[in-house]
Order: sequence, then C-alpha cells, then structure tokens
Amino acid sequence: INRIGVFTSGGDSPGMNAAIRAVVRTALYKNKQVTGIYHGYQGMMDGDFIPMESRSVSNIIQLGGTILKTARCLPFRTVEGRAQAYKNLVEAGIDGLVAIGGDGTFTGAEIFSREYDIPVVCIPGTIDNDLYGTDYTLGYDTATNTVIEAIDKIRDTAASHDRLFFIEVMGRDSGCIALNAGIAGGAEAILLPEKATAIDDLIQHLSKGARQQKSSSIVIVAEGDHNGGAYNVAKRVKEKFSHYDAKVSILGHLQRGGSPSSFDRVLASRMGYAAVNQLIAGNTRIMIGMRGNEICTTPLEEAINNKEYKLSEDMLEIAEVLSL
Ligand code: ATP
Repeated sequence: INRIGVFTSGGDSPGMNAAIRAVVRTALYKNKQVTGIYHGYQGMMDGDFIPMESRSVSNIIQLGGTILKTARCLPFRTVEGRAQAYKNLVEAGIDGLVAIGGDGTFTGAEIFSREYDIPVVCIPGTIDNDLYGTDYTLGYDTATNTVIEAIDKIRDTAASHDRLFFIEVMGRDSGCIALNAGIAGGAEAILLPEKATAIDDLIQHLSKGARQQKSSSIVIVAEGDHNGGAYNVAKRVKEKFSHYDAKVSILGHLQRGGSPSSFDRVLASRMGYAAVNQLIAGNTRIMIGMRGNEICTTPLEEAINNKEYKLSEDMLEIAEVLSL
C-alpha cells in the first residue's frame, strides 16, 4: 500500500472526525500517503479528492459530523458507477481504502473490493449500535449521552407539571439507545423494537406508579417500537389513562450531532489506528470492531449478513426493577 483513500459514507455520527484523524496520522507515521475522498462513494465517482497531511486533521477530534462530508450515492450501486470510481482511484494513485459508515457502506465496499481487487478496511460509524462484530459503533455513546441530557431537561417539566412524557429516540431496529438512555435517565418505561409491549401492560405499569405516588412519568419510545412511535403510543394511552396530562417529544436529528464523548474519541482513535495497520498487514474486506475492550476484526461478509442482539436480559430486568 502506498496511498490510502479515506472516506465517510451513509449517515454521519460523532467520532467520524476522530477516526479520520487517526487514519491520517497513523498512515503518515507508517510513511504512507493519504487522500481524503469527499462525500463517500459520490466523491469517488466524481474524483472529489484532497491530499491529506498531519495538519489537515488538526482541531477536528472534538467535532461532530464529518469534515469529509457524507452522502448516499445510488449510482455506485451500478457497474458503470463503480468502474468510474475505480478509474479515479487509479489516477490518484490510491491503492487501499478505509471506509467509515454503516452496513450499506460495507456492502458497497465489499462489492467494489471484490470487483477490482482493491484492499478495503471498514470502521463502524453509526449512532444506532446495530452492527454485527462490535460491542460499540462510533457515535453511539455520544448519542446516548445527548438523549440522557434531553431526558433530564424534559423531566424538569414533567415533574413540575405532574405530566406524563413520551420521548421518542432513534433506533429503527435497535433499542440500544432507548434501553441505555432509559436506564440512565430513570425512565418509567422503555418501548423497544426488539420486544413488543402491549399498550394495556404499559397502562397497568403506569397506573401502578401513580398508585405509588409517582407524580410524573417518562416513557422512552424507540422509533421502531411495535406500536408505531411515540404519537401513537401517547394517543392510545390517553384513551384509557387520564391520571396525568400527556405530552410527546420527538428528539429527532439532534441525537446525531454534537461533540463526540471521550469514549467515542478513544474508540475512533483505536479503530482508525487499527484500520491502517490491518491494511498495511495485507488484510482486506474486514470490519474493525471492539469486543470487551479489545480491538478485533470481522470479515465484511459476516458483518453485513449477521444481526446481533445487543440487549442483555440483565439490562431489561434492571430497567423494569428500577422503574417504580
Ligand atoms: P446508516 O447506518 O447511516 O444507514 P449506511 O452506510 O448503512 O449508514 P447507506 O445509505 O445504506 O448508509 O449506504 C451508504 C452508501 O453505500 C449508499 O448510498 C451507496 O452508495 C453504497 N451502497 C449501499 N448498498 C450498496 C450496494 N448494494 N452496492 C453498491 N453500493 C452500495
């Protein structure tokens, strides 16, 4: 490997910049050149490249989002699109890639790498923590902290007005943010994509809380919960339960941004460092992950084709036991 191309793709997540920085500085330390590719696969097809030096990544470790920008790029799914991208890489002298993104990004990387025999190592960057082969993805810890901050603020209002709040958090398939933020924020109930909760059971639980002199309650609803999101849950609960005034708050995109937590910065630094070392060692089509505080690798194919259930029974029980 002489020149590594690094890019971010799919949804942005806090920690992507710290990972870019780690890739650039590790590569330079190992006497390799680095090119930044803007806008993910779109920039690869457009030849939107920038040579990167150590100073290109100064003062970015604390920034959310991605300085290389990101995009979703449909034409890269075509043979012609990928041929154009490969031509640009060859012209720029890029002979290895580090891709930072989610499973869509990994799928593109896997296909492209097989088609043109170009080495690629991926770093999991998504707030959802929904990827196989790693305990944590970049951005998940920061997003959870952002949600906790929001819950704390909403709780002030809930407690002052004796209200019931339904807070919708990100997570279409994964309840990681909902469960962990719910426990850390002291939620009275948590509705998850992985586990159906009947509205009647939720009402029974809230009623029990009310009987035990709870004057306000917070219910965390993951986007992908089985009852169709926070508005639907609130509507159905209100029909049968009028103990408190009920309000809904959808946290939305504020969960994706912000300065990465120390955990995400360190994880990004470790993953970026490992990605470059894996490329140099001749490994390809792998994802860098972390298991039990050890950096590890998983073949991309496995990372793409497997789902991982990340909620432990312990955590579900803790949420239940501590909620009343
Ligand atoms: P997020 O977790 O935020 O959704 P992601 O990486 O899964 O991140 P996607 O939009 O699914 O985000 O994928 C990113 C890009 O990867 C796509 O816009 C496309 O350019 C490329 N990609 C995805 N699937 C394929 C595929 N089957 N073939 C080629 N390229 C693909």
